[in-house]
Amino acid sequence: MDKKIQTYHIIGGGVSGLSAAKFIKQKNAKAHVIIYEAASHAGGRCYSFYSPKLQRDIDNATHVILGANKECRKLLQAKDFHKKISFWKNDKIHTSPWLELPLILRSIFNTNAQDVSSCLIKSLIFKLFPFLSFQTKMYYSHGDLSKNLINPLKKYADEIRYGWVLKSYESQDNKISSLLFNKDNVKINDNDIVISALDAHNYHKIFNGPKFDFNTIINIFYRTSIELTLPQNIPFIGLSDAVADWVFINKDVVCVTISDANEINFSDDELARKVWQEIRQINHIQAAFLPPYQIIKYKRATIRQDEKNQSLRTNFHHPDFSNFQVIGDWIMKDYPCCLEAAIKSAKKI
Ligand SMILES: Cc1cc2nc3c(=O)[nH]c(=O)nc-3n(C[C@H](O)[C@H](O)[C@H](O)COP(=O)(O)OP(=O)(O)OC[C@H]3O[C@@H](n4cnc5c(N)ncnc54)[C@H](O)[C@@H]3O)c2cc1C
Repeated sequence: MDKKIQTYHIIGGGVSGLSAAKFIKQKNAKAHVIIYEAASHAGGRCYSFYSPKLQRDIDNATHVILGANKECRKLLQAKDFHKKISFWKNDKIHTSPWLELPLILRSIFNTNAQDVSSCLIKSLIFKLFPFLSFQTKMYYSHGDLSKNLINPLKKYADEIRYGWVLKSYESQDNKISSLLFNKDNVKINDNDIVISALDAHNYHKIFNGPKFDFNTIINIFYRTSIELTLPQNIPFIGLSDAVADWVFINKDVVCVTISDANEINFSDDELARKVWQEIRQINHIQAAFLPPYQIIKYKRATIRQDEKNQSLRTNFHHPDFSNFQVIGDWIMKDYPCCLEAAIKSAKKI
């Protein structure tokens, strides 16, 4: 069998599928890599786009990575990691993360802190240990996820077929023999490999995978008339006891993240006003006008990372086809569902 002409059929063009293309090509430059992506763009839950409403490039969600996220750091080549993390509590700034553990755990696991699986917390502590300052440094995206992460990865695929939605598959002799897409059926040759880089929800639907619960993340982007500053000129801040969890400044765009947001049922306008009021309190802005805003809600941002869903992750075994592999943030049982987990899962191929 000629290793050089092996074709890899990757289903899903998110960070895990795109990273898989890179790692496959690094191992075998002659491999042929095809990515089938349901959407009209690559990146899955992580990409940037031009918002006509704000007239700026924004990310679908402000993504934070920690210094400890080695694989992600390498791919992003991000330099501006921030050492000092500040929080707003009782009308004052403080810098003690230990006082804000519920907020920190909720943000990392997109799950109510009290419900986060204890083994996930243990493995997080293990991964951050030793608690050197670079491990806990934070970087956040600036409307540049596609430019810095997604577009450079896209070039490793020989072909990306956008709008190709996998509906089902056929198998024979313990192998996947055909992939049945909305557009056409693809026959899988003897030497080929099929890789599912689907999110947990679509993997469940197509391959009868585990049925997870999911949690919402809401992002709000405000376009301000002048560049907003936070006290002490810090670039971002965590909010205690507020609707907003984090406020990030990106020039004249203020980005807000709210994790574990299933229960937030305000109308868009009410939510935008409530959060803007919280921002005004931090930096004492007088302007009462609500700036133009864009709200992006992901109902299935990540799986809920509590004991129940963690046990589904831990006990997950993919169908035993000899030409099939499964990757994605959700299969990495020792990691929060995040970019680092997605990239690490692809590295296992
Ligand atoms: C709002 C939000 C905020 C986040 N914040 C952070 C953060 O701060 N830090 C961090 O590290 N991570 C964060 N994440 C998580 C991070 O985005 C994900 O862990 C990562 O993008 C997962 O990549 P993936 O490739 O595993 O899955 P996905 O990105 O979900 O990729 C799956 C791909 O499969 C495609 N697909 C689905 N069904 C089909 C089908 N039938 N046929 C073909 N293609 C299909 C989808 O369109 C998608 O492109 C956040 C996620 C969200 C939604």
